[in-house]
Amino acid sequence: MGNSVGSRYSDETNIVRGAVYFEPSTGALCTPIFQSASFRHPGLGQSTGFDYSRACNPTRDVLEKTIALLEHGRYGLAFSTGMGAISSLIKIFSPGDHIIVSEDIYGGTYRLFSGYYAKYGFLFSFVDGGDFSNIEAALRPETKALFIETPSNPMMKVIDIERCAELIHKHGGLLITDNTFCTPYFQNPLDLGSDFVVHSGTKYLEGHNDTLSGLIVHSNEVYQEILLEAQKSEGASLSAFDAYLTMRGIKTLALRMKKHEANAARIAEWLRCHPKVEKVFYTGFPDHPQYAISRKQARGDNGMVSFYFKDQKDVALLLKNVKLILFAESLGGVESLVTYPLVQTHAAIPEAIRLSAGVNERLVRLSIGIENADDLIADLDQAMSD
Ligand SMILES: *Cc1c(COP(=O)(O)O)cnc(C)c1O
Repeated sequence: MGNSVGSRYSDETNIVRGAVYFEPSTGALCTPIFQSASFRHPGLGQSTGFDYSRACNPTRDVLEKTIALLEHGRYGLAFSTGMGAISSLIKIFSPGDHIIVSEDIYGGTYRLFSGYYAKYGFLFSFVDGGDFSNIEAALRPETKALFIETPSNPMMKVIDIERCAELIHKHGGLLITDNTFCTPYFQNPLDLGSDFVVHSGTKYLEGHNDTLSGLIVHSNEVYQEILLEAQKSEGASLSAFDAYLTMRGIKTLALRMKKHEANAARIAEWLRCHPKVEKVFYTGFPDHPQYAISRKQARGDNGMVSFYFKDQKDVALLLKNVKLILFAESLGGVESLVTYPLVQTHAAIPEAIRLSAGVNERLVRLSIGIENADDLIADLDQAMSD
């Protein structure tokens, strides 16, 4: 596919236009869905660069180049889901290797590490990344990586990416950052020293609550060989159609993130003044405990807002009464959703870890969409009234 562009344009332009501006053989402005399992070879020893879609597909290839461009890395890889991407990334490590993980992470990532990879001899320590000394204290001679999610899910703790990179690099290890919440529009972990960025493309990147995808971006040639091999061997690669939808979503990322940010700021402020609310967790509050770090490494705030009710009975009331906001798992789409982490996203995390992370029975998480903010506030208002 031709006309690959460099990074000479701003991120905002690159988000809209991607890595490839048109399909060279037809001039199609939108990358076509190359819905073909296999590709013909012109002759022995000759190839178009494509042979079988599990290993490589022209539509997926453009998405992979685009996410690499947006995350300021050399290589992008696209997988069927965020979990598929994270699972493939573990293949660069070996049994016996130790990985430090920030404990306040997506429940599925916790389940994958502690429930599956631990069984195959990989060692994990889960620590509260909100306090940097916990990460330092968890280092062992066999520590090979630090895996962080920042801002964290669902408590919105912010971890200093630069400081993490410095620490783990001094130890000879790698930093992996899950950038699902901020997206490359607000944060570029590779620029801050992270070795890998992972995404659930299902969330803000695709943005329409209709497709699952996962992405990895990095700049290391040796790891790229291993990851391509893992993608081809395990078969968690993204389909052409889902790659197309993910790219279509990404084109409006900048506009959507600005609206998510503006809506969430208003709703976080409104919740903070509500008599039934004990505490609101939102990265845009100047009194957020890691506000200075957040402002240093991110250019804005996403649409995620969590809060504690004072009384647990108000949780059920809210979940039953919301009309515009939908009670559903997931985040980052144009529609506003409300999630109850205790029984949904974080059910896989053992009680002790869950509670120490702050995920209690009074915690509710909102993914604020791009609807009218007054309508969203009115919906919350009626749903939170007795
Ligand atoms: C959803 C999510 C994942 C997993 O992605 P899927 O596409 O659902 O597999 C990983 N990390 C974070 C932060 C997520 O929100």
